[in-house]
Amino acid sequence: MSLYLLSTANFAGLMALVAISYGIATRNLSHRLVRNIVLGLILGFGAAAASLQPVMHINGIQIDPRNLFVGCAGAFVGPLAGLISFVMAAVTRYYEDQPLAIVCIVSLFVATCAGLAWRHFTRNQERTSRKLLVGLGLTISLSYVCTFLLPRSYWGAVFSSAVPFLVVTNIIGTTVLGGFLERERRRARRWRRLQAQASIDPLTGLLNRRAFEAAYATVTRTGTSKDMAFLLVDLDNFKKVNDVLGHAGGDKVLIAAARKLSTCVRDGDLVARFGGEEFAVCLPSSTLEQAAAIAQRIRAAISELDMVKARNAPPTTASIGVCWGAATLRLEDAFEIADRALYRAKVEGRDQVVFGEHEAVVARPAIAPWPSGMGPQAAGS
Ligand code: GH3
Ligand code: MG
Ligand code: MG
Repeated sequence: MSLYLLSTANFAGLMALVAISYGIATRNLSHRLVRNIVLGLILGFGAAAASLQPVMHINGIQIDPRNLFVGCAGAFVGPLAGLISFVMAAVTRYYEDQPLAIVCIVSLFVATCAGLAWRHFTRNQERTSRKLLVGLGLTISLSYVCTFLLPRSYWGAVFSSAVPFLVVTNIIGTTVLGGFLERERRRARRWRRLQAQASIDPLTGLLNRRAFEAAYATVTRTGTSKDMAFLLVDLDNFKKVNDVLGHAGGDKVLIAAARKLSTCVRDGDLVARFGGEEFAVCLPSSTLEQAAAIAQRIRAAISELDMVKARNAPPTTASIGVCWGAATLRLEDAFEIADRALYRAKVEGRDQVVFGEHEAVVARPAIAPWPSGMGPQAAGS
């Protein structure tokens, strides 16, 4: 009896330790693959630790609630975490060198699959009710059917003393530990959704200004990019576009322009809606020629939008101001230079690309002379 109480206390402590570690990892690891691996390791640790503190022995067979942890890994995290925790638990069991360890390993495998099956069948449920958690405990307990793989002489003792104890432990475990894991999973999902909403422009789906500023700071801080370009792209005569198409029609043009912008840049480039009909683009690791080519590609792509042509409105075009320079340039400086260039593009007739004057930049090493045909005036042709 006292062994049961001690085991129960150990088990409760182990569940608390796993739950706390799970919560910390879920909240702090934003990379999905890394998060799933770490959560698999945490639940695998739970299974291995449970297996090192057996509740009882029946003719040399060790009885402990390790199946609960591998089942929860499959149910609350997914196949990769299920596999990791299964391997950890199976290896621990193998090295304990118990007789008939292979049956325990098969039972662990069935528990992992049971957790994954529960995950699959409950995936469309809005919330995980207590009934579903109890259902998970019972599903994981199906793994004890593996008792039939033991010699017949074991069946009576295992089914009468071990299995009822383990089934109750699994139900309590999935209700308490599973309930906690589920709450953490939901909280982390809500947090990630809010974070995404806070960094995305809802109309175009591009980064918003705040997210762009953060990403730009990362690019300049990491120092992986030598030279880079910052582009300000402003749609021309947009007030008239709105006048002809109405505000909703104007919105459609903004969405189409944003899509075009995204298709003109490379992987790793940043595109954001800075506000109104103004977009910002950051081209890390770009030569002057590459920056000029991409800027021209954007200008040409937007001028090909024919959403307003039929309506006797000015064609959709964009003016682009470019700042090209060292990747250490602060965003405020790059913005100022690109904004002045954009102003010149507007004054000089719109639908063109103009490069800014680099001399205005203080924190920048000397820039090579313009390649022929790429100077501030020529770039916009
Ligand atoms: P310019 O060629 O000099 O840039 O002229 P413009 O008319 O594009 O520039 P201006 O800054 O005078 O007008 C911008 C217009 O963009 C005014 C505003 O109604 C419109 N606008 C800003 N945000 C939105 C939006 O979210 N949706 C729509 N449909 N229009 C917007
Ligand atoms: Mg405009
Ligand atoms: Mg504007």
